[in-house]
Amino acid sequence: MSTKDYLEKDYYAVLGVPKSATAEEIKKAYRKLARQYHPDANPGDSGTSESTAKFKEVSEAYDVLSDAKRRKEYDEARALFGSGLGGYAGAGGGTRAGGFPFDLGDLFGGTAQQPGAGERIGDIFGGLFNRGGATRPGGTTTRARRGQDIESEVTLSFTEAVEGTTVSLRLTSSSSCAACAGTGAKAGTTPRVCPTCEGTGAASRNLGNFAFSEPCRDCKGRGLLVDDPCPVCDGSGRGKSTRTIQARIPAGVGDGQRIKLKGKGAPGENGGPAGDLYVQIHVKPHTVFGRSGENLTITVPVTFTEAALGAEIKVPILKGMPVTLRIPPGTPNGRTFRVRGRGVTRKDGTKGDLLATVEVLVPQQLDDKARGVLEEFRDAVAAGDPRAELIQQARSE
Ligand SMILES: [Zn+2]
Ligand SMILES: [Zn+2]
Repeated sequence: MSTKDYLEKDYYAVLGVPKSATAEEIKKAYRKLARQYHPDANPGDSGTSESTAKFKEVSEAYDVLSDAKRRKEYDEARALFGSGLGGYAGAGGGTRAGGFPFDLGDLFGGTAQQPGAGERIGDIFGGLFNRGGATRPGGTTTRARRGQDIESEVTLSFTEAVEGTTVSLRLTSSSSCAACAGTGAKAGTTPRVCPTCEGTGAASRNLGNFAFSEPCRDCKGRGLLVDDPCPVCDGSGRGKSTRTIQARIPAGVGDGQRIKLKGKGAPGENGGPAGDLYVQIHVKPHTVFGRSGENLTITVPVTFTEAALGAEIKVPILKGMPVTLRIPPGTPNGRTFRVRGRGVTRKDGTKGDLLATVEVLVPQQLDDKARGVLEEFRDAVAAGDPRAELIQQARSE
């Protein structure tokens, strides 16, 4: 059977089982249908009869669905393309299916070998389809590969997050093992070409009009066999590389945010583009300032007389000398004042505001003179009970 069969035939429907059927259910359904359509059960039928065709169909469906690995491949192929692929017959050109921008010719071992073009789809299939000679007997892939995306994290001070900063990040990514230069063979030995696949790394299973292949079982798709594995990487050929990069963190990032730095991931192979770097941001809280989106917040204590009489007070800002804020006479506790342009830097370079909330202080200790003046003040403003209305309202509800 060919790849085309995978895309055109609904094996589940053939066996009359749901996609979620267990192995046992599939087996049961197959046995029942096989008994029903088996040539022995239909004496008199010639080889071209309907029941014989049906028996073949059922057997084919069971072959695939009873093999967990092949069933998975089948499901994946169909999930990717959808069932009933209209433009499939045109494979080799720039056929697009399901909105996926790729080249079927590339995918099925055809002609187009544009570096990078079929990469994304190739990754999804993970070697399911023969990649048309991308693997050479030397075991090296000449195709340009995009570098890995890398995850990292950084803890910033409050000010760094508000103003933006440049940080050094130590990044670890996978690369070739340094001890064996990625061959997986112990130093001084060399891998040999796999005799099973003759170095192609691929084993053909069924050839219809299209090459349908899977990684060679003996060499696991590498095309090479290692008799004496490298002790450093256990023969995998893979290692870790660490490098330090300078990453620009834009102004205004917040705690818990994840930012993407394009092209700062692992370098590409064979001229492919670098991957991206994702940085998880942690921001340490500030003892004085808080954040509310693009605004900074601060609570400013004012005395009772400043609030009552009005005053010009000094308010600290995140960077630089304190600014003067004029509070009008009769300012209530909890009122918030806006100091323009002293907040968080926005994307366009402008800044949010500083929101200063006043907290009226009540004198904790009074000397005789202060108490005397306050008592005088009390008598001067003795204009009735401030809670009278509240009590009235509470009663009338
Ligand atoms: Zn092989
Ligand atoms: Zn090694």
